[in-house]
Amino acid sequence: MLTENYIALEEKYGAHNYHPLPVVLSKGEGVFLWDVEGKRYYDFLSAYSAVNQGHCHPKIVNAMIEQAKTLTLTSRAFYNDCLGPYEKFITEFFGYEKILPMNSGAEADETALKLCRRWAYDKKGIKENEAKIIVCEGNFHGRTITVISMSNDPDSYKGFGPYTPGFIKIPYNDLSALSKALEDPNVAGFLVEPIQGEAGVVVPDEGYLSKAYSMCKAKKVLFIADEVQTGLARTGKMLACDHENVKPDILILGKALSGGTMPISAVLADDDVMLVIKPGEHGSTFGGNPLAAKVAVTALQVLKEEKLDENAEKLGSLFRQEVRKIKSDMIELVRGKGLLNAIVIKPKNGKEAWDVCLKMRDNGLLAKPTHGHIIRFAPPLVITEEQIKEAVKIIEKSLQEISESI
Ligand code: PLP
Repeated sequence: MLTENYIALEEKYGAHNYHPLPVVLSKGEGVFLWDVEGKRYYDFLSAYSAVNQGHCHPKIVNAMIEQAKTLTLTSRAFYNDCLGPYEKFITEFFGYEKILPMNSGAEADETALKLCRRWAYDKKGIKENEAKIIVCEGNFHGRTITVISMSNDPDSYKGFGPYTPGFIKIPYNDLSALSKALEDPNVAGFLVEPIQGEAGVVVPDEGYLSKAYSMCKAKKVLFIADEVQTGLARTGKMLACDHENVKPDILILGKALSGGTMPISAVLADDDVMLVIKPGEHGSTFGGNPLAAKVAVTALQVLKEEKLDENAEKLGSLFRQEVRKIKSDMIELVRGKGLLNAIVIKPKNGKEAWDVCLKMRDNGLLAKPTHGHIIRFAPPLVITEEQIKEAVKIIEKSLQEISESI
């Protein structure tokens, strides 16, 4: 079958909840993807930062195969011999007392919200059903009903009401709005992305996270960091909060926790918070399964062994430096941290970010617009200096070709 046949199948038999770039991929290795016709591309999306370790990382894939041959799922009705060692490993890795394993990022966010609410009633003394959680405008935490109840993006929430109450929405990167919202004694938590990924790689001012953290501490409010996209070496540190030496009270991880091989997410916290949830009050059939446990340990080991945080820091700077040299009146702004970057596109001759992405695809690089006019550039962190330079040349060539075509 050819590209158009595969696309036609999805169109006819799949729900229309996505609008993919027209390319059909059938193989991945490291920073590269191949389509069904054998054409090779640089992957500059990394499955929304789930493939930080590179496609089909041999160590992760081997761990997966070995465990898949032995035991994949027991449910949490019984103990298994992989979960405990994984829990010990990941809690020591990030310096927390406990982990609660889940599958998708949205589920981990939901878990954090439940933990925060229960903590509010059991520990902070807020009257039942009155806890509030502060969230930021422009946030993206997933697609469940409660999670979209926190969103101010109509594409995410419109037409799916009624919504879950109990959220206070404030502008992102606005400490005085946070200070005002924290005056409410029923506030239990502040949920924040250290960099807003889906909003278009919106990087807050330096000091925002550390000041927000201190303000939360002063009001006995839990600081909850959603590092599903920013975590795991993507921004040049293992966690984006590490840039400001902030240790969240609740840490939410997903995506690259499996190196892109299967859905694995996690919520980390200390006993004071985590132990408010008792047996039978939360869970998931697949959360903490032996296969996921083995894969997650290996995915974290790879990040550390290959120093992917340092590579992201170094090559991220190079990427921004090289892109800023491109002479194109379609580039309005280049921003980002580590290897989580974005170019804000100024449309020209009716050509927009989508057209730029189509042209880059033709020239051998895959990226996707977010919010119409922003293109995110987030390659696997195993990328080399030479590859970054070649990729920037493709971006430059594509912008030139688009500018010249009317
Ligand atoms: N949180 C953040 C910051 C995300 O970027 C995403 C997905 O892009 C999610 C949560 C949701 O993760 P999932 O799609 O695995 O539910």
